[in-house]
Amino acid sequence: MREAGRLTARALRSVGEAIRPGISTLELDAVAESVIRDAGAVPAFKGFHGFPGTICASLNHEVVHGIPSKRTRLREGDILSVDCGAIIDGYFGDSAVTFPVGEITPDAKHLLDATKRSLEAGIARCHAGMRLYDISNAVQTVAEAEGFSVVREYVGHGIGRTMHEDPQIPNYGPAGQGPALKVGMVFAIEPMINAGEAAVYSLDDGWTVVTQDGQISAHFEHTVALTEDGPVVLTVE
Ligand code: MG
Ligand code: MG
Repeated sequence: MREAGRLTARALRSVGEAIRPGISTLELDAVAESVIRDAGAVPAFKGFHGFPGTICASLNHEVVHGIPSKRTRLREGDILSVDCGAIIDGYFGDSAVTFPVGEITPDAKHLLDATKRSLEAGIARCHAGMRLYDISNAVQTVAEAEGFSVVREYVGHGIGRTMHEDPQIPNYGPAGQGPALKVGMVFAIEPMINAGEAAVYSLDDGWTVVTQDGQISAHFEHTVALTEDGPVVLTVE
């Protein structure tokens, strides 16, 4: 899983390096796919329930599951959430980053920073003896303290030989509750945080999830292993 995580991180870094005003999200998808295939691995999302891309590319008020398209071209000031996964020897990595496109507004910067910090707070709870919703509560506490909203309908998950395993990991919940965390568990923790209200809906394409109020949304995700020494983030190079 470390190898799958490392490759997922490399694919995301390559996408980040390619991001510039004018590039299409389909071109970014090709960047991620070639990094993964050149390593002899398999894109985890492509074909998953029929999803056509190697990445999910969700722009501005799109929350998750945006379909890469040659018609979607980035502009200065956009934010783009890129979710990516890779499979190596049957093991999965899953990670997401929201990238700024050029110079973004202070409000957008604040959202990205808070969402990233909410993920870090969740990861810091990944210790044996903690409870599952300690992770959830840590994410929620950071996000809401900054005046942002936690998306309810989409959640983190266990991960291993399949992308989505039990348990589901909501980004909100009561501290001290839920199943006990144990060494050997591996989680994909993925706060989806809205600048405005929490409500979201799906577009007619069957995939793209957008905020109901049209305000921007951010998404950061890491695959994290619980070890005797605490959390180890696998989706880093
Ligand atoms: Mg993901
Ligand atoms: Mg995930």
